[in-house]
Amino acid sequence: MEDSTQTSSQEESTIANNLPPVRSLRELVDRVTGRNLVSSLPQEDAGFADVIPFPFLALVGQDEMKLALLLAMINPHMGGVLLIGPRGTGKTTSVRSLPDLLPHVPRSLCYYGCLPEDIEVGGMDAVCPDCAKKFGQGTPISTFDRVRLVELPLNARLDDVVGGLDERAATQGRIRLHRGILARADHNLLYVDEVNLLADDVVDAILDAAAQGYYIVRRGAMSSTYWSRFVLVGSMNPEEGYLRPQILDRFGLRVIVHGLDDVDQRLEAYRRSHAYASNPHAVASQYSSDTILAQNEIQAARDALPAVTVPDNVAHLGLALIEQMRLDSLRAEITLFEAARAYAVADGRSEVVAQDLAVVGPMALRMRRSDFIENFFSQQKNEEDELRSLLEKYIS
Ligand SMILES: [Zn+2]
Repeated sequence: MEDSTQTSSQEESTIANNLPPVRSLRELVDRVTGRNLVSSLPQEDAGFADVIPFPFLALVGQDEMKLALLLAMINPHMGGVLLIGPRGTGKTTSVRSLPDLLPHVPRSLCYYGCLPEDIEVGGMDAVCPDCAKKFGQGTPISTFDRVRLVELPLNARLDDVVGGLDERAATQGRIRLHRGILARADHNLLYVDEVNLLADDVVDAILDAAAQGYYIVRRGAMSSTYWSRFVLVGSMNPEEGYLRPQILDRFGLRVIVHGLDDVDQRLEAYRRSHAYASNPHAVASQYSSDTILAQNEIQAARDALPAVTVPDNVAHLGLALIEQMRLDSLRAEITLFEAARAYAVADGRSEVVAQDLAVVGPMALRMRRSDFIENFFSQQKNEEDELRSLLEKYIS
């Protein structure tokens, strides 16, 4: 696996790239604009239009969205990203480009999704009998594969999402639970488009699973625990209704996605999407060496993340900011500091500085102030004052 990546990286860098090497993720994001793609494209169409995503690095503008997605890939523990904006602003295109940026992951060879790590954690009972047998014989039960984008269907029911009783096993006289979409998203990317149109119980299950990294399903006497370690990206079109504040608060970063307002950027975006529409394979290979560099950078950032610290003076600054903004939710500081750690490590540092908070602050802290909660506390205080004055008056 390592070797083949190495070779293709070398081959591709000789094909289309005469730019100097990229030193940081930030530089990669910044460099995206301003490359004229059209002039150097081969003419023939390789015919992979359905399977080759538009390259992340070819996306024009939308710096905040791209940065938020990169930070979520480096540090999936900050609650994912919610993209808020109208249709046609590139939300879905950018999400579909993300799998290419992520390092390969273990993939089960079995219908039930058993992995060697399940055996390490839970013993042989944690996998299906077939996999237990294979594992005992030394036959592999998983392989390494590229990250997949799991897109939640709009009509998904809770049973589809968390899993339920397996009819296939039931016809063989056995009772088993089958994995839901959340378990299949383990190690992958989960994209929930139009999250504001989903049933509340479904959204709750997704956000719980994303936050914990695992979830438990109980059906009658049966119960199963599944891994659900995925990068979560949600999107919504505010014209079609809002999320409840309690749900909105549970997403880590929120990005307001506007259309491009710079004329030159719009023209460049049009040129690139036109080039992609006529020959997606050529566009993908144009960016492939930078994409592999970015993938290596993200893996290195993930590896270095655990050692990144937030010094006390920076933490106090962040907490003072949150207090000034009257944000009650503890998720405000969790997301602010986790996003700042991801940003620091992307910048090659092992310590967060105040400037990191300034960069990630808007996406971590916006839209957390809940009028409902604010009204709730002020009403609560009114009631409390009334109660106390009544107590003073009547009980002396
Ligand atoms: Zn199995």
